[in-house]
Amino acid sequence: MDFLDRARDAVTSWREPAPSHPALQPDAARFEAAWGEFVERMGTSYPFHHPRYAGQMLKPPHPVAIAAYTAALHVNANNHALDGGPATSAMEVEVVAWLARMFGFPDDTLGHLTSSGTIANLEALWVARELHPGKAVVYGANAHYTHSRMCAVLGVTGLEAPADVQGRIDLDAVEALCREGRVGTVVVTAGTTGTGTLDDVARAVTFREQYGVRVHVDAAYGGFFALLADSGLIDGEPFRAIARADSVVVDPHKHGLQPYGCGAILFRDPGVGRLYKHDSPYTYFTSAELHLGEISLECSRAGAAAAALWLTLRSLDLAPILSAGVRAARAWAELIRGSDALTLHREPELDILTYFPTRSRASEIDAASEQVLQAGMTEEDPVFLSTLRIGRDAFAAAHPDVELDADGARVLRSVLMKPEHEPHVPWLHERVSRIASR
Ligand SMILES: *Cc1c(COP(=O)(O)O)cnc(C)c1O
Repeated sequence: MDFLDRARDAVTSWREPAPSHPALQPDAARFEAAWGEFVERMGTSYPFHHPRYAGQMLKPPHPVAIAAYTAALHVNANNHALDGGPATSAMEVEVVAWLARMFGFPDDTLGHLTSSGTIANLEALWVARELHPGKAVVYGANAHYTHSRMCAVLGVTGLEAPADVQGRIDLDAVEALCREGRVGTVVVTAGTTGTGTLDDVARAVTFREQYGVRVHVDAAYGGFFALLADSGLIDGEPFRAIARADSVVVDPHKHGLQPYGCGAILFRDPGVGRLYKHDSPYTYFTSAELHLGEISLECSRAGAAAAALWLTLRSLDLAPILSAGVRAARAWAELIRGSDALTLHREPELDILTYFPTRSRASEIDAASEQVLQAGMTEEDPVFLSTLRIGRDAFAAAHPDVELDADGARVLRSVLMKPEHEPHVPWLHERVSRIASR
């Protein structure tokens, strides 16, 4: 099935042909030259779509999402107001309800799509500041760096709690801060960006009642694994506990098969909607119904993003796709445990695997990881990985036999987020082992 043909057919069926204007016609020769250069330059990208790319959290959207996005793009709906995107606004409301159900949030959950996880987290922290003025936001040393940066943007005191050697936020340290009464909001991560580690969300949410703090879950990367919470494949407890948090962020442009420009923020209490109230002469709200621009910090937003996510969730099941990634990480971890060339850094909790070329000193591991990364990309049959810096304490705790002659070490990291990775695990292992033992 050619999904792009469908997009073209749909657009033709919606639209009356419009008169064209010569000013909009590119000069043919100029266009050809520019197009040629464009194609050539784009061709230099890494092969994110292929299982040989096992590096960062990157992959193209599903063709179903591309079809919906492409078709909707011809309308270029703007989900700021119903006037700008009546059809896509309704789709956004439906996908937000779908995400709320995934997290066990109530039917009247307030939420919307955002252009990214960064903006979604910014909104969560902004609401946190409005509801607990003058109080601090605590996040872990394992959290995404956006939290400290957004605290600075918001003028909120951000406190970094240490991470334990497992890479989880140290909730004893967080609790001690809460007990002092300075904390308004605790941020925990359900699936860290570096290693896919799950914070103890279930314990964090008990701080709400105990200390009157808000709990925000950053599940930008890990959120969709909530679909596997009861599968027995992963630790479902942190995902089930999200239902008791105040807010949660998830990025459909990470594990939801979407193009970039699709994050989401959900608030369990719809009452926070009052914080978004504004009175602007520019808005073109023509109905009394809720416009998404009234509950969002961003104004213009791509209606196409809502359309693409809506069609994706209607047409595909994400759980089998996510499961394949988890199994791939486990299978590769198993191969590494039996390998002389590679050493496992951490047991994978989701679909992120961390490992390194077996060496006896931290400095050698660091150099060899970098070398494998570079060599992998220039091989005839290349493999693309990423590296992750592990701090001194976490590295020492995980690898007591390694001589710590440096301040931590870079290790190799593979996000196995394409289901095609699963059948390619033996190939990936063989390839990376061969390069690592040179
Ligand atoms: C990716 C990520 C972010 C940032 O989201 P963007 O969509 O890249 O802006 C924040 N937190 C976590 C845990 C992430 O994985």
